[in-house]
Amino acid sequence: MAESESVPDPLTEHDDLVSGLADLEKRFSEGKVQQSEFEVLSKQLKERIARAEQQAYSAARKNEAIAKRLRLRNYSDPEVQQVISHFLKSRGGLLVPEFGADRVPRYPLENEGGRTFTAEMPLLERMGDIGMVKKTLYERIVSCPNCSAPRDVFLRFKCTQCGSIDISISRMIEHVQCGTIHQEKAFLVGTNLICPTCKKLLQSKDEYRLIGVVCSCNSCRAQFEDPTEGFYCRKCKVDFDLPTGNVVDVHSYTMTSVALDEARRFLGVNVLAKILSEAGYEVVSPGLLPGTAKEIVFAAIAKKEDRTFAIDLSQSELEVDVEPILELYVKLLEANITAAIFGAVPKLSKRARDLAALHNIRVAEAPTPSEVGSKILEIMITL
Ligand SMILES: [Zn+2]
Ligand SMILES: [Zn+2]
Ligand SMILES: [Zn+2]
Repeated sequence: MAESESVPDPLTEHDDLVSGLADLEKRFSEGKVQQSEFEVLSKQLKERIARAEQQAYSAARKNEAIAKRLRLRNYSDPEVQQVISHFLKSRGGLLVPEFGADRVPRYPLENEGGRTFTAEMPLLERMGDIGMVKKTLYERIVSCPNCSAPRDVFLRFKCTQCGSIDISISRMIEHVQCGTIHQEKAFLVGTNLICPTCKKLLQSKDEYRLIGVVCSCNSCRAQFEDPTEGFYCRKCKVDFDLPTGNVVDVHSYTMTSVALDEARRFLGVNVLAKILSEAGYEVVSPGLLPGTAKEIVFAAIAKKEDRTFAIDLSQSELEVDVEPILELYVKLLEANITAAIFGAVPKLSKRARDLAALHNIRVAEAPTPSEVGSKILEIMITL
């Protein structure tokens, strides 16, 4: 491995924990672990996995070797693939957010077959951590310190004396020629501006100057120039200001050239899906199946008549190791399918192949995704 020995490897810890979880789930499925014990242990393991993963991502920001290893794993993630295929289709164009009624930024992606897929900010930020995308500041949003959402947050201008928001804000205007300074309403006659002192009609914009604003409070009658600025969440009925609110940076994204190159080599699911659909299978990629807690996501689901196949694909420079096999195995514990097939480009490590055999996972190994696709097809026909 490329890392220097002084740098601890957060991915190894993560992988060990994932193996530990798979092992636990296997022992549970064989009835060797009690339900209550299983629940406690698996909850602990999942928390530790999440923490280790977080550490790996933050390490990736400073360590390109870790970033690259994480990128290679992520190319087989269906959501990441959707984002990448958007960039491939738009030739690396800028991905900008849209703000819905909840004011949460979402990123609409160009998609094959006209289906819309929207990427959420956390996914893109993670892709940024590992150098798949480059981010540029696009906007900042203020979210409530209580409910963490930006949806019901309003900017408030308040009286400096009593804090009321019932203040009148008037613009101060100077008539340049005679020097009269007054509130705008003193100049307004209908829609015209007429100087209250010299009675001249002000027709062009350079006859008068905007000096500033003056505020008066309708509750306590105080007059002041700069109102107190703050925020208010209508949902939580909470007042807050800049130091106590959460200001979230919203980015636009472009794909890095390194990741574009990698993606062309490592993305194979679309090729594979095409081969299977041409052979009469109904292919969905990413393939979702209902699980006990949440949906289970496979690289693809292929269906024909009453048979359902779950397919995962992983690609590596030399050989694919145990981790993606373990992931597939864990997913299979919850899924109701005819068979699972794992595609590896170019091949599996011996450990990974043994593990797949042990868990009854069929494997298709070949140098390219399209050859893997043909092999998967052969396997499916015999099942
Ligand atoms: Zn709130
Ligand atoms: Zn007041
Ligand atoms: Zn005047």
